[in-house]
Amino acid sequence: MSNAHRDLADPAFTYDWYREFLERLRSAGYRFRSFDDDPDDGGVFLRHDVDLSPRRALEMARLEADAGVSATYLFLLSSPLYNPFEGEQRTNIREIASLGHDVGIHFSTHQYWAKDDPPTDAALRDRVAAERSAFDAVIDADAAPAVSFHIPPDWVLDRGFDGFRSSYEPALFSEIGYVADSGQRWREDPPRIAELPDALQVLTHPGLWGDEDASFERRIERAAVDAGSRAWELAHREFVDGVYS
Ligand SMILES: [Zn+2]
Repeated sequence: MSNAHRDLADPAFTYDWYREFLERLRSAGYRFRSFDDDPDDGGVFLRHDVDLSPRRALEMARLEADAGVSATYLFLLSSPLYNPFEGEQRTNIREIASLGHDVGIHFSTHQYWAKDDPPTDAALRDRVAAERSAFDAVIDADAAPAVSFHIPPDWVLDRGFDGFRSSYEPALFSEIGYVADSGQRWREDPPRIAELPDALQVLTHPGLWGDEDASFERRIERAAVDAGSRAWELAHREFVDGVYS
């Protein structure tokens, strides 16, 4: 990739910084790929693990669509913060897909197995297949070929699985460049675009970003408070106001 670019300012977790980051990737020669594609020089897999909020994911999806960028959004089916089957969330997810992004599942092994007690390959494959098939109720389109693991335990890293493509398999992880904003670690260790390998996967978590900068803890707090007040409002409407009765 071209080295002719000065690097970005220190990261602030704002949409402005993120937009600039995407623009720099593009002007360095990168092109955005789907996980249907094989890794190649100049190709970047842009992946989003939606840990916090499909609504925030939609904000990022719009920003990317405006910038002419396509990405892959992966959703938890087991989040304490959102339910992808709920009407409004389903609408958010469908809108993300309609903007030209791929959507699929972000799989939490922790919901099924203890960290130090991994399942057999067959048991894992069956659970992933079951979640992927449940996701068909969210969106009537083929799920993204790649599955990512939530807070990945060591035993999923740097290996492939039968039956689905893992975003942590060697060809997508250790054999190409891999940068991630997990825990907002970019504040201390920002991605240096001029130093990135020619083939790349970038992971960002939509809920960690916003119009204004905020710390990791604040973003988690915002997601939890939003989810709680939303649950209260919807439950009140459904059970107390009796909107369906
Ligand atoms: Zn996650």
